[in-house]
Amino acid sequence: MVQTRSTCPYCGVGCGVVIEHDGAQITGVSGDPDHPANFGRLCTKGSTLHLTASASITRQTRLLQPLLRAERGKPATPVTWNTALDLAAERLSTIHQQHGADAIGVYISGQLLTEDYYVFNKLVKGLLGSNHVDTNSRLCMSSAVAGYKATLGADAPPCSYEDLALADTVFITGSNMAWAHPILFRRLEDGKRAKPEQKWIVADPRRTETAAMADLHLPLLPGSDVALYHGLLHLMLWEGFTKPAYIAAHTEGFDALKARVRDFTPRETARLTGLREDDLLTAARWFGDSPATLSLYCQGLNQSADGTAKNAALINLHLASGQIGKPGAGPFSLTGQPNAMGGREVGGLANLLSAHRDLANPDHRAEVARLWGVPSVPSKPGKSAVEMFQAAADGEIKALWIACTNPAQSMPDQAMVRRALERAEFVILQEAFATTATAPFADLLLPATTWGEKDGTVTNSERRISRVRPAIPAAGQARHDWHIAADIARRIATRIAPGRIAMFDYATPESVWNEHRESTRGRDLDITGLSYAMLETQGPQQWPLPEGATQGQARLYEDGRFATASGKAKFADVPFKPLAEPRDAQYPFSLGTGRLRDQWHGMSRTGTLGRLFGHDSLPAVDLAPADMARLKLAEGDLVEVRSRRGSLVLPARGSDTVLPTQAFIAMHWGEEVLTGHDAQGRPVPGVNALTTPAYCPISKQPELKHCAVHIAKA
Ligand code: SF4
Repeated sequence: MVQTRSTCPYCGVGCGVVIEHDGAQITGVSGDPDHPANFGRLCTKGSTLHLTASASITRQTRLLQPLLRAERGKPATPVTWNTALDLAAERLSTIHQQHGADAIGVYISGQLLTEDYYVFNKLVKGLLGSNHVDTNSRLCMSSAVAGYKATLGADAPPCSYEDLALADTVFITGSNMAWAHPILFRRLEDGKRAKPEQKWIVADPRRTETAAMADLHLPLLPGSDVALYHGLLHLMLWEGFTKPAYIAAHTEGFDALKARVRDFTPRETARLTGLREDDLLTAARWFGDSPATLSLYCQGLNQSADGTAKNAALINLHLASGQIGKPGAGPFSLTGQPNAMGGREVGGLANLLSAHRDLANPDHRAEVARLWGVPSVPSKPGKSAVEMFQAAADGEIKALWIACTNPAQSMPDQAMVRRALERAEFVILQEAFATTATAPFADLLLPATTWGEKDGTVTNSERRISRVRPAIPAAGQARHDWHIAADIARRIATRIAPGRIAMFDYATPESVWNEHRESTRGRDLDITGLSYAMLETQGPQQWPLPEGATQGQARLYEDGRFATASGKAKFADVPFKPLAEPRDAQYPFSLGTGRLRDQWHGMSRTGTLGRLFGHDSLPAVDLAPADMARLKLAEGDLVEVRSRRGSLVLPARGSDTVLPTQAFIAMHWGEEVLTGHDAQGRPVPGVNALTTPAYCPISKQPELKHCAVHIAKA
């Protein structure tokens, strides 16, 4: 039996795993005792990874050879790799020549490795000549990115996992981390056991498993986060919990924010948030008057039409109280996907460029053009995830190239997504799994490697870069994502820009990595000192790690200098806005969506194991007992949940985790178990039959967390 160290492919905690195998089959998995994220622990998902990679499941679920669908609606048939790659390049080049670069949209994934991401980004921005490359990280972390940049000047989570044990107050807001980031939550529990006086505040409309363990649960009304943070700042000012000397020395823009939060009196904040005034005062005291306060937050803030403001208003609290740049303190976004961080590092979003450079900055565009050896990089922002699919639905985008993600289940407003996939002239799906909801829409399916086979790097929530190593050969004819992208890029270059063929001459993932790390020289995330060899000998490392450094940096902004032009952090004077779709007489329930403990995204992998359904086996809508009684519902009665975009029928479940007028449905279930209908009565899968495509105007992240629904007995 052979052991190979790698990284769990599920969430942004980024746990190290040891894969046991015989060179052909993966036979077991255990936590890597030396990995600084998890020190040997794994959650239910990570500890069953080997079972999802068994030969029988691989045979049933994996895409094992390139397939071409000659006619929509008909079965796809096998073709050789050469035929598939030539066809992809031919169709994309033709569309490029006939309709321009803007007619091609490339939609990738926070589950790709950094090396995959790098090649895709370069292909679109350096070869095709547009910025229409976006990723499902847009659905995950783009509000956190925008919030950090607006306040601290760079997309750089300033904290480390070790801060969880060092904090005196932990403010968890918009996150059920007990389920969504389980191993990090275990570390938090360890910290509390060692330091029982540590206070936990959890702000969440639901009484989740995380909230149930809090010293103070703030069940705020859905969408009222900014009002809560402004109200806490009002109280911190009133009670003297702010740090005027820190504000004066290290920040700017406080006066405008101070004027704004004057109106967020305890009474007004209580009215806007539904919280009690004395709980607000307790939270303000614990946050501001604590030696070290750490905020942990995730999709509850990010997946919102006001996501950037929510992130920035939370960071305001840390700046005003000096709770940043010291052990146990700071705003700490929890990354949803395993490599949303790595994708951001290479600039793999429609509005970013390599190494945290900005598309809007002409100097940054010129730097990237120089690095890639191209005359220029286009300045026009690309289309973000929802915009890209809306453009395809409108006929503006003619070709969609989708890699390692399942938009036909995971995007909001599935009726619109289906229109996009059907109207696009050519859809490429590059995937490990043949069973996703997007597969039937693809004209060309390209088999990709997955966990256990992939080779490269990922970055977790604490800026720590880990190696992902292959244990076994690729299943069937699957190839690495970076390799497929580079092969197609060279073929496109032959047709539209022969001088750029050599831009994609990569022999190994390490050669991609070396180009990426050079692009970071002098940037906030400088990793010019980090090589594959160093990762081999010294293990996972945090960025920055510039040339000459012997180890990464655990904590940012300890010297009080921020990544802005002035070196000072900026307070964000953001207004409080109502939900994109508040409940009303016609749609009187607030529907929230979220994760289950043992499932991951659309269940392509976790859904293959019976044991992962032991925790929650069937979809249901959680309703408050009072609403169950008011609607005359018994446990398990079927109800129709209807929004402005579609409807679902599923069992009702009485639950004291939700308050009256609120409802909750897990995000994972797809069409095999939960098929809904769009407004025209056509079948669409899962909870995204209901959700709204409204998105934050700054981060472009959609409001997947909330929509207004009507619920009635079916
Ligand atoms: Fe994998 Fe996340 Fe579980 Fe760690 S906490 S084992 S990274 S799913």
